[in-house]
Amino acid sequence: MKIFVTGGAGFIGSHLVRRLLKEGNEVAVLDNLSTGSLDNIADVLENPALSFTEGDVCDKELTLKLSSGCQQMYHLAAAVGVKLIIDRPIHTIKTNIYGSEVMLETAQEHGAKLLIASTSEVYGKTEKVPFCEEDDTIYGSTTHPRWAYACSKAVDEFLSLAYYRQTGLKVLVARFFNTIGPGQTGRYGMVVPRFIDSALKNEPITVYGSGKQSRCFGAVWDVIRAADMLMTSDDSFGEVYNIGNDKPITIMQLAERIIELTGSKSEIVLVPYEKAYGKDFDDMMVRQPSLEKVSGKTGFKPEYSLDMILR
Ligand code: NAD
Repeated sequence: MKIFVTGGAGFIGSHLVRRLLKEGNEVAVLDNLSTGSLDNIADVLENPALSFTEGDVCDKELTLKLSSGCQQMYHLAAAVGVKLIIDRPIHTIKTNIYGSEVMLETAQEHGAKLLIASTSEVYGKTEKVPFCEEDDTIYGSTTHPRWAYACSKAVDEFLSLAYYRQTGLKVLVARFFNTIGPGQTGRYGMVVPRFIDSALKNEPITVYGSGKQSRCFGAVWDVIRAADMLMTSDDSFGEVYNIGNDKPITIMQLAERIIELTGSKSEIVLVPYEKAYGKDFDDMMVRQPSLEKVSGKTGFKPEYSLDMILR
């Protein structure tokens, strides 16, 4: 099959590209290398089944041309990373919403199936755990996406479902929770690579807030497997799915575990949120997905524990 991947030189995208090539597909990648890098796909760049183009997903003419003949499309390109999305909210909104619109139109034109990458951030500051796709905190009036990134992804979701209803386009939304694995950098504030980097250098590990906030970290290999399973299942379209791991750990425990596994001499330093992100920043205490929907549809279950990924 010929498959089009935007953001294929990014962290999740590069793992997906590798998996799709291994399955025997032909893969066309479009990436503007803003946060991604060719290093992420260096091992497959010479593969004749892969074609890479540096360019912007918002360039509709280019996107249409590159994806010609594709039966499946994965839209992962987005403005991401805590620092970037706080510093450049309008750029974030433009890239994420217009990029998704172009991909919806492109998939429609080619009659291809489309996966749109969304985020657990669309749940906003909900206290109800685990987070379920059908919770009306998202589609009702109580939604509080925290920042431009979350708003843009929520709009992407609405757009995708509207396309499905209006045109029958085979589009689904994958709401990724915290995803980790090889190739993710700490450059954009990502917690696991940042902690590991500090631990390996025996430098202080900075934990923002109380450290009592908890997250569930999914292995990138599990995440792309779930995405692949949804795309190849016949009746998964027109729906939103949580994808990730559902085992929580506090950020303090995460730092302690990384120190233990690396045998590091690093100390843990607590820093108030406002010092890092400005005075009104207030993090979510818990973020945990319900995986019932994706499991019910595909039989997906995470295979990798946090320790397996960290090692
Ligand atoms: P990433 O930054 O590694 O990947 C994004 C890729 O998109 C990069 O290679 C970047 O160069 C490319 N890109 C950005 N803007 C582009 C544009 N206008 N045109 C073409 N390419 C562009 O980030 P990631 O973690 O791999 O994220 C992939 C997707 O998953 C994103 O849509 C993100 O919102 C979503 N997501 C990721 C996580 C996570 O924990 N990593 C969690 C939730 C959602």
